[in-house]
Amino acid sequence: MNRTRFAPSPTGPLHLGHAFAALTAARLADPGQFLLRIEDIDQSRCRPEYEALIAQDLHWLGLDWPQPVMRQSERLPAYQAALDRLAMLGLTYPCRCRRADIRAALSAPQEDAPAIGPDGPVYPGTCRGRPMADAGPDDAIRLDAARALHHLGLDEIAFLDENIAPGLPHRLAAQDFLDGIGDVVLARRGMGTSYHLSVVVDDAAQGITLVTRGKDLFDSTWIHVILQKLLELPTPRYHHHRLIRDAQGKRLAKRDDARALKLFRDEGTSAEAIRRQLGF
Ligand code: GLU
Repeated sequence: MNRTRFAPSPTGPLHLGHAFAALTAARLADPGQFLLRIEDIDQSRCRPEYEALIAQDLHWLGLDWPQPVMRQSERLPAYQAALDRLAMLGLTYPCRCRRADIRAALSAPQEDAPAIGPDGPVYPGTCRGRPMADAGPDDAIRLDAARALHHLGLDEIAFLDENIAPGLPHRLAAQDFLDGIGDVVLARRGMGTSYHLSVVVDDAAQGITLVTRGKDLFDSTWIHVILQKLLELPTPRYHHHRLIRDAQGKRLAKRDDARALKLFRDEGTSAEAIRRQLGF
């Protein structure tokens, strides 16, 4: 059984890249098993009008999904429970570092060039070891990745992708995780969660069996697999798909004002034509 989801953040209008992601998720789902999830944990950037537009755009493309739609802003207790569980295992610590502190710590002259992970520079560990009892409202919560891997007794992380090298497990050595990804943020300052934690908790809560998303999130999957194991949640299968690029070969992104689906719609382009252009 394939149950998939499309999980946009309502921070701007959907563009062709989102249409491709949504159509991919819907095509790979069994009948009635394509879900929509609104990823609105960053309330400072999300807008209700964009959420309404998401539903209009997706219906226009011919997609439908069961109600009610899961909305991450309503799920904070579930994220808190997951965080508490990781804290009970002694695998988290509060972190007061700001971006500039991290940059400064990483620019010490004797260090090699800092590794860049899926969330930016690999955290140098300044706050590692601070007790959770110290956590204040200005702190983020990080995973102590070395302890987590040790707790799991893992010397490598593995998952299956049905699109990239299907049938062959993708593997990452534990040491490479520590060197290249490290102590990721589980709860951002003032937010109570992070993309990584909420996506893992919600994919399990929704019973997603096949996670479809862009290749830009491939390296986040190593983090998600570790969190699934720590929280004793099933690891779904993955399908990381290609990214839609503009004429200059640049990935479409909301922040670059990629052309909204609504603009195509308003000027009379048919959904059929958009689907065809994207190969559906
Ligand atoms: N919300 C994420 C995004 O807008 C997608 C999350 C996922 O598919 O795991 O890119």
